[in-house]
Amino acid sequence: MKDKDTFTGCLSRRQLLEIDACTQCGECLKFCPVQEVTGNPLISPPEKIRLFREFIRATEGLGARLLGGREIDRKLLEDFSHAVFECTTCGACSRHCTVGISTQRLWPMLRKEMVRRGLGPLGPQAGMPGAIRETGNPYSKPSAERFAPWFPEGVVVSEKAEIAYYAGCTGAYEAQPMVRGDVSVLSAAGEPFTMLPPEEEVCCGFPLFITGQHDLLEDLTKRLVSAYQERGVKTLVCSCPCCVNIMSRDWPIFFGKDLPFRIRHITQYAAEALRSGRLRIAGELRERLIYHDPCYLSRGVGVIDEPREVLRAIPGAELIEFDRHGLASRCCGAGGAARKVFHDNAIATGRLAIDEAVAKSADRLILSCPACYAKVNEALQGHDKQVRITDIMELLAGLVERR
Ligand code: SF4
Ligand code: SF4
Repeated sequence: MKDKDTFTGCLSRRQLLEIDACTQCGECLKFCPVQEVTGNPLISPPEKIRLFREFIRATEGLGARLLGGREIDRKLLEDFSHAVFECTTCGACSRHCTVGISTQRLWPMLRKEMVRRGLGPLGPQAGMPGAIRETGNPYSKPSAERFAPWFPEGVVVSEKAEIAYYAGCTGAYEAQPMVRGDVSVLSAAGEPFTMLPPEEEVCCGFPLFITGQHDLLEDLTKRLVSAYQERGVKTLVCSCPCCVNIMSRDWPIFFGKDLPFRIRHITQYAAEALRSGRLRIAGELRERLIYHDPCYLSRGVGVIDEPREVLRAIPGAELIEFDRHGLASRCCGAGGAARKVFHDNAIATGRLAIDEAVAKSADRLILSCPACYAKVNEALQGHDKQVRITDIMELLAGLVERR
């Protein structure tokens, strides 16, 4: 491919308008976590949009049409691609954008364009498609180890049921207290639920989507949707915000029509079960809890109230907030598949959350995303400030009445 070929093939009409609409006002800069920890202006949202607009003009603008497209300097393209992949896709810039650009949807498409040009993905991200083809997960872990190490004893999984639980790769392999908590809470709620066998519960496709490697997405989606459909599933519950995001927003596109079931985050399920009385809290917890909103849960799919409803239902617990919370939350640093490539950024950003939790005298930092869980725990190691980190379902599972 020549570097003067079209740059617009991966973008929707709306995204082309968004690229044109950026006024370079810089308002979003104040909220970008990567800016906060690197101070590198090349990674800023307006600079990425400005450069991409230049690429489009040089190859498809009026001058290009009249006189032929210009070749884009390869080094500039490489630097741009690096910046697009260093972003955590947290979407904070989107939340604060003065003209309403949906960057959390735009950045992955720019990554897809960079992959198409052979300029991405970066580092270990390139091994993901092969790992998923061979093992069903991006970590190259055996499917035999997907559930066995953490699945709670005595929990019954039905062959068929209207509710299904999808553990997800990051939860199953890298945040096991969290998925153990999910299954324990589902069991305590008393409704039958089903799960796919470990070799059938393949990756939801999010790591491939977010790194611009889209070739396997249709196949993964169709395999998973068909498998749940065969089990009579009406509600698919998962705890990873990235899974929830791709399932509810992108699976219908790859599946070719509406899904035959609805997607729920585990906190939505638990809040509803607490409201209806199916779940009852037996204990109490006299602690100050601070809750971190995962970017793909709050800004991604708008699940903000339910986790707080769960935490407020715990007798004795006091819920406190980060300065930036809900739709305005600050990324933990682990998003966008950047955590294994830009390790230092992720650790520095995770420590900002730990520092604020400590400054506000929180007894626990409550998380509800496996990527946050893995990285913020890593950020805690060797840090001079310490706070107890607990997943929201791990916490709830320890307090609910058992059936
Ligand atoms: S998505 Fe997040 S990390 Fe990426 S540019 Fe926007 S604010 Fe920065
Ligand atoms: S806030 Fe929106 S319009 Fe302003 S620089 Fe950022 S992306 Fe562009």
